[in-house]
Amino acid sequence: MLQIINIEPVKGQTAISAKWKEHPVDFKIPFTDTASVENAITCCCVLLYLGIDIQTISERMLQLKPVEMRLELKQGINNCSIINDSYSADINSLTIALDFLQQQKQHARRTLILSDILQSGKSSGDLYAGVAAILEQKNINRFIGIGPEISKQKNAFKNIEESVFFDSTADFKLQFHSQHFHNETILLKGARFFEFELISHMLEEKIHQTVLEINLNAITHNLNTYRQKLNAGVKLMAMVKAFSYGSGSFEIANLLQFNHVDYLAVAYADEGVELRKAGITLPIMVMNAEEITYDVLVHYNLEPELFSFGILTSFENYLMQGGIANYPVHIKLDTGMHRLGFEQKDIEALCSRLTATSVFKIQSVFSHFAGSDTSAHDAFTKIQAGIFLEGCEQIRKITGYTFIRHIANTSAIQRHQELQLDMVRLGIGLYGITAEPAMQQQLKNVTTLKTTVSQIKIVKAGESIGYSRKGIATKDSVIATVRIGYADGYPRQLSNGIGKMLIHGKPVPVIGNICMDMTMLDITGVHVQEGDEVIVFGEALPVSEMATLANSIPYEILTGISQRVKRVYFEE
Ligand SMILES: *Cc1c(COP(=O)(O)O)cnc(C)c1O
Repeated sequence: MLQIINIEPVKGQTAISAKWKEHPVDFKIPFTDTASVENAITCCCVLLYLGIDIQTISERMLQLKPVEMRLELKQGINNCSIINDSYSADINSLTIALDFLQQQKQHARRTLILSDILQSGKSSGDLYAGVAAILEQKNINRFIGIGPEISKQKNAFKNIEESVFFDSTADFKLQFHSQHFHNETILLKGARFFEFELISHMLEEKIHQTVLEINLNAITHNLNTYRQKLNAGVKLMAMVKAFSYGSGSFEIANLLQFNHVDYLAVAYADEGVELRKAGITLPIMVMNAEEITYDVLVHYNLEPELFSFGILTSFENYLMQGGIANYPVHIKLDTGMHRLGFEQKDIEALCSRLTATSVFKIQSVFSHFAGSDTSAHDAFTKIQAGIFLEGCEQIRKITGYTFIRHIANTSAIQRHQELQLDMVRLGIGLYGITAEPAMQQQLKNVTTLKTTVSQIKIVKAGESIGYSRKGIATKDSVIATVRIGYADGYPRQLSNGIGKMLIHGKPVPVIGNICMDMTMLDITGVHVQEGDEVIVFGEALPVSEMATLANSIPYEILTGISQRVKRVYFEE
């Protein structure tokens, strides 16, 4: 008998002390979750029973690695979304993957392609009855079972709207076109033996070899990091304008909705429409609504920002004509940014306009800081806040009801905690970027831009590389041409040695002028082969560093990555 004496988490590890046949057994594992602790103890029992010595057990336990579980979300053929988990199939990971599938609201239909589950230790009858029960709970519309065992148990799945079975992956491939995949989210879940990658090749859109990878766990982590900094009761609006700072639209919004943020904000009405069409039901503020979009705005229940008397009047007229009352709107005050908004001198007139009509419901009043990230502007930030609070108070008095007041963007959330007010607007921080070094350490990298080497050349000293013969080889050199250029959003300012990329973890400089679709790198001294992966930016080469070299800011680089660069979402 193994008697457990103590289980203690220490710095990301768990120390387990036990006693076995009067011998002390002490070991550590590099995990802290309960399931891993239980598994490790079970393992330890078996090893002791098999006569493995205690010393070896404690050495090996510490070398354990987490099982890689990576769910990828990609654009598929015929407007499908593909969740690819084609390397494992067991009940636990199936449940996790199904949760992720449920989180996807972009398509009404959900399909699961599942292989036989191997080595479950249960009888086939029990196993697949259990699987079928889970699938019914998770609203799967179509079920495709692949494998001899699952096919034998097809009766267990008869309550699912639609189910088909194939004995092997090869059989399924022959019938692929008869399955008519379109406009649905498809989860692929197969044990390695079934080679589901053959299926994912058929389902995924073929992609140009430059991709922007988006780590969804990192977004959740960053969201929670900022949430921990919020004063009690403060709401959170997530900024998903400009294709979520370049990271995607409904994919990010789905995640934020799943994590119960209070509000989303987009710049233009069509961005909001796209989110609604993809099943996003959170309230959405539109910062720059135009008159021609009022129809879709109201049809899709999007909430405009009113920033001038012009837009106030035109929207008021529109609502009156439609006989609509109490439509949610957001009043923007200009407290010093001088971009959009009512100024201090307008407040009185604004108040009388607001009290004279019942078409609006003031959902919130807000303003925007010009320099909340810089201590040099702290005094100005305080002045902006003062003007804002005074404006809010005037509006509250005259309208007689309360509304949400918000002014803090990412940097203000943390640098001016007292200005979080009723809600904050989290933008760039969600995507893992901040100007504060201490804060940066608490955030996780979200985006990685990757490309590949298309050709390698040996160039003699004195020869030139690229357009206008700007890049001159100072010695005999090895040059790699990679599949990214300024049309993809790789700034041309990084030409001629200013920019660098990483190959196998080694920094290599840009040589010559950056072209529209390609860039040349000086890889002399680095072992590289054609087809190798190249990191343009990511955890090891922060986008903020690249932005500085390009005389830009991360906001511009991220939102400038062109749409031909495919986004791949993953969850670990
Ligand atoms: C973009 C934007 C934000 C978010 O700013 P970050 O610096 O990315 O946090 C907040 N409010 C308004 C009005 C914005 O336009």
